[in-house]
Amino acid sequence: MNIGIIGAGFTGLAAAHRLTKQGFEVTVFEGEDYPGGLAVGFTKKGWKWSLEKHYHHWFYSDFAIRKLAKETGHKYIYLPTKTSTFIKGTIYQLDSPQSLMLFDKLSLLDRIRTGLVLAFLKLTPFWKPLEKVTARRFLAKYNGEKTWDMLWRPLFEKKFSHFADQIPASWFWARIKKRSSSLGYPEGGFLKFATRLDALIRQNKGRILYKTRVEKITKVDSKLEVLTDKGRFEFDKVICTLPYASFANIVQDLPEPYSQRLLSFKGIGAVNLMLVLKREFLKNDIYWLNVSEENFPFLAVVEHTNFMDKRYYGGNHIIYVGNYLPQDHPFYSKEPRELFELFLPYLQKINPEFRQNWVMEANKFTAPFAQPIVPLNYSKIMPQIKTPIEGLFLTNIQQVYPWDRGTNYAVELGEKAANMVIQSR
Ligand SMILES: Cc1cc2nc3c(=O)[nH]c(=O)nc-3n(C[C@H](O)[C@H](O)[C@H](O)COP(=O)(O)OP(=O)(O)OC[C@H]3O[C@@H](n4cnc5c(N)ncnc54)[C@H](O)[C@@H]3O)c2cc1C
Repeated sequence: MNIGIIGAGFTGLAAAHRLTKQGFEVTVFEGEDYPGGLAVGFTKKGWKWSLEKHYHHWFYSDFAIRKLAKETGHKYIYLPTKTSTFIKGTIYQLDSPQSLMLFDKLSLLDRIRTGLVLAFLKLTPFWKPLEKVTARRFLAKYNGEKTWDMLWRPLFEKKFSHFADQIPASWFWARIKKRSSSLGYPEGGFLKFATRLDALIRQNKGRILYKTRVEKITKVDSKLEVLTDKGRFEFDKVICTLPYASFANIVQDLPEPYSQRLLSFKGIGAVNLMLVLKREFLKNDIYWLNVSEENFPFLAVVEHTNFMDKRYYGGNHIIYVGNYLPQDHPFYSKEPRELFELFLPYLQKINPEFRQNWVMEANKFTAPFAQPIVPLNYSKIMPQIKTPIEGLFLTNIQQVYPWDRGTNYAVELGEKAANMVIQSR
């Protein structure tokens, strides 16, 4: 059986690894010239490890990707990390029941209500009732309007823009359920891990064609024809790992209602400013700082080198200033320096000592489809891996629900799609 896979992100790599290990003939098409997709990394002179364009870590319960790392002999590290929130001009460590109880911007009653809701979400496995209601309604009702306004609304608005009030409470459940204080990271960076998978796929006689963009997929008799900018290929089965809208745009002859349904699911993009600094920006070893301030132009500051040691990055400190924005937002077209100058006064509110001359380098990275927007009752309407076209499978970042996107679920779904292909023989 001859199988084509579109995309060498972690979904495509996991599927290709599984299939080639079992002896199937596999060709992976990747538009870029490197593996890793959204989790892709890059290196710089003087660095021992690669770094992701967008901050990445694993949660403790990311078992599928940990299993794949073990199976392929790739080491990983789990370390305790500190999460805090910048709110009303002060940094609060809000990552445990104790720290929440000390948060004096909320009344004692609101703190207790918030603590109980978070504990409930952490413990309950029953997410289905939560997809019927928006997170906004759920949190305002059970945490109180004041808590919603102060703690959650600014984060939802920055993460989801104009979709903020439409996100189901099941999304919030997944975020709370998954959170672990200790976070994981593949040794050498995500690029190194992706490169290892690439090497194993090739070792098992798989092909990965980089800089090869798939333009069209057509069913011709019992075969699937894949047209790329480098030529035409023919397969018995194809797994496509692109978002729904891209899939609908390249696959010919999809039934119209199915295609319209795929196109109805939205996503939001990401713009990340990555700064290489001479000095530490977030004190007290804070790794992740949520910015719950209405008028700030970013959502989070992530100090990667308060997670992984700075010696892997030439002894410098690395922060990401992270943002999720609609694809037509002006930040996408700004130069890194322009973005930095815009952010500087706000960064100085977080750390008043911060000076422009700490910055050795500024890079901007964008991803047009970074965060799926899931509607209410998504589990009932989510398009499945099997598509209406025989032999064509679709598995992507929008199908990891009820969980939120992540490389762990990419691996889980990639392997599931590979198994479905094998069973469909
Ligand atoms: C800002 C940000 C932060 C994140 N943080 C984390 C985190 O901390 N931990 C975590 O685990 N995950 C995180 N994620 C999510 C994670 O990166 C994704 O869930 C995962 O990488 C998705 O993998 P994928 O293979 O499904 O899709 P992708 O990574 O999107 O892979 C799809 C691949 O297809 C290629 N492609 C697209 N069109 C074509 C075409 N026409 N022809 C050929 N190739 C094509 C793309 O170049 C890409 O390589 C984050 C993502 C973002 C954007």
